[in-house]
Amino acid sequence: MAKVAPNLDEILRLDRAHVIHPTTEFRKQEKQGSRIFVGGRGVEIELADGRTVIDGFSGLWNIIVGHGRTEIADAVAAQMRKLAYYPSFYDVGNEPAARLAAKIVSLLPADRRLNHFLFSSGGSEANEANFRFARQYHGVRGKESKAKIISRRWSYHGETRGAGAATGITAYHLFVQQDPSHAYFAPPYCYRCEFGKTYPGCALECAQDLETVIKQEGADTVAAVVIEPVMGTGGIIPPPLEYFGLIQEICKRHDVLLILDEVITGFGRTGKWFAMEHWNIKPDLLTLAKGISSGYLPLSASVISDHVYETIRDQMPEGLPFMFGLTYNNHPTCCAAGLANIAIIEREGLVENAREVGPYMLERLRDAFGKSPIVGEIRSGGMMAAIEIVRDRTTKEPFPNFEDPARISAAAFQRGLIARGMFQCVALAPPLICTKADIDRIVGILQEVWPAAEREILAAGK
Ligand code: PLP
Repeated sequence: MAKVAPNLDEILRLDRAHVIHPTTEFRKQEKQGSRIFVGGRGVEIELADGRTVIDGFSGLWNIIVGHGRTEIADAVAAQMRKLAYYPSFYDVGNEPAARLAAKIVSLLPADRRLNHFLFSSGGSEANEANFRFARQYHGVRGKESKAKIISRRWSYHGETRGAGAATGITAYHLFVQQDPSHAYFAPPYCYRCEFGKTYPGCALECAQDLETVIKQEGADTVAAVVIEPVMGTGGIIPPPLEYFGLIQEICKRHDVLLILDEVITGFGRTGKWFAMEHWNIKPDLLTLAKGISSGYLPLSASVISDHVYETIRDQMPEGLPFMFGLTYNNHPTCCAAGLANIAIIEREGLVENAREVGPYMLERLRDAFGKSPIVGEIRSGGMMAAIEIVRDRTTKEPFPNFEDPARISAAAFQRGLIARGMFQCVALAPPLICTKADIDRIVGILQEVWPAAEREILAAGK
């Protein structure tokens, strides 16, 4: 019999009284209380009530190497004993940040010339810094009016002021006026094409829409477009093959920088070290987070290409610094965690594993649920997959309030699996250490809960 934490009631009481949980309905949270997690090993996570469940979502897409890696804890402890922290403002540097930047450069395709790193604490911050770099790049060239950031509907880029505005999922914008220096264009969401077209006979109107929006806004007001290679939170939406070729042409034509947000896709999630390799994307700026440290410590990176860096370096008036910096930029201990994490990914061949196990996961999901009357489409991008739930397969009628996918994930949790109810999808993004046998366990649990879910959803739709 698994052991229940002796102080569980106290933890629950304190949590309810004092801790705000992100992206949570406060009213419901107070009533239900929290699930307290206390440990983790490999693909499994342990709860304070004694249960163990499979982490089918790698925390929040990020725990690439799985739980309980003492090797990372040791690297972090060793760095903390030497130098836990010192700011890297002005001319101060540290070894882990320098080594981590060089390590990631060695993993990136060399011809992208993405050589300059500013490490921060999370994906939102890294996007925010990249927006600043993009604006600064135009500003120092005498084009200060080029300040707007364009992103896609259904995109997710974070929650800070700029990153939150770039996030194109409207649910995040309710009750909050967004930063007005943003505009949106159509996503490559073929299942729900905004233009009513079907790929490949569509001329990629979704990509062309970027040009329409740049012209509407005025190219002289647009700094950059920020894009996830595979849309994550919006529903795991990979683009058609030719998509990024068009996007890049449009950016070049209008002197608009391309920021590639690889916060989810970086470090092997799609079966390559970086998703830019699948579509031959050549970004001017790159955003990394999540898998960079597998969440063992908060870490992200804004990576800028030589030409953006050199423009800012060479065009800034002599004696003026680049006036941007956060206390925890280039944090030595967080960078030490990143180095230890990447060493594990390399040594254990986790990118190669994702390349093999990801397609297996898609195949198993399609076999198990492809014909279900509540399933509209099953998509994947390597080791992440989404089952889009619909009320009606023919009309593709979506859910009005996203509650049904969340209900499926709640039922799966009761049977021992964390699968995320993500808007209209049930989504999986297991750690890259996942074996085919782990995938069989995950799919098996979903199969156990599916018949009841179908019955409930179909009955509710009547
Ligand atoms: N960009 C993408 C693609 C993400 O998925 C996320 C978070 O899920 C972010 C940015 C924001 O990262 P963070 O939550 O670390 O600020």
